[in-house]
Amino acid sequence: MKKIILLLFPLLCSCNGKTTLPGNSDSCDVDTTCLCPHATIVLQPYDNFTRKEAEKLVPVLQKHFDRWLFGRWNFIVNNPAPLPKTSFIASKNRYDVTPILNYERSIIKGNEIIVGLTHRDICTDSHGHKNYGIVGMSRLGNQVCLISDKRLSNKSDYWKVILHEFIHTFYSGKHCPNDDPTCFMKDAKGHGNFHRQNRLCDSCRRD
Ligand SMILES: [Zn+2]
Ligand SMILES: [Zn+2]
Repeated sequence: MKKIILLLFPLLCSCNGKTTLPGNSDSCDVDTTCLCPHATIVLQPYDNFTRKEAEKLVPVLQKHFDRWLFGRWNFIVNNPAPLPKTSFIASKNRYDVTPILNYERSIIKGNEIIVGLTHRDICTDSHGHKNYGIVGMSRLGNQVCLISDKRLSNKSDYWKVILHEFIHTFYSGKHCPNDDPTCFMKDAKGHGNFHRQNRLCDSCRRD
């Protein structure tokens, strides 16, 4: 009888492991490996972007990520961090994204994706201009991005920019090849019409 129990135990353990819910890791975690796309997404607020504001975003992002991206997305929220001093461009009152993305690279654990959140104006050298003001930037396939709501006329569009940058970051996704104004992956080209974006077009779908 004892032998039967011993033989059965690993089977039951495996079985439990397969039904483990996201975030409930246990000794059977090896069996929970999901073949579908999945990521732990760390929301990293900066400066005066509060932890509470980041926490409020989680259900919004969860809903839209689950709607538009096939996979399993687990969000966690970090405490606010100061913006790196070297990122501040005093003449423009903007923050250069490069030192901020470098900071994010330095705090990554494993395969997680860091999504930086700020109310400050951010910039990079782009469109032939130095310190060009932008709403978001990511390093393609390199686990880090930063999104600012400073330039958004409608703050409720913030999740759309986060989704856009996440697709760059996680999938190395490119801009919409159709330049479709309704597609979340349309290149803003300095004129973000986020209120018109309400889908991922057939070329950009991730479901
Ligand atoms: Zn598209
Ligand atoms: Zn983009």
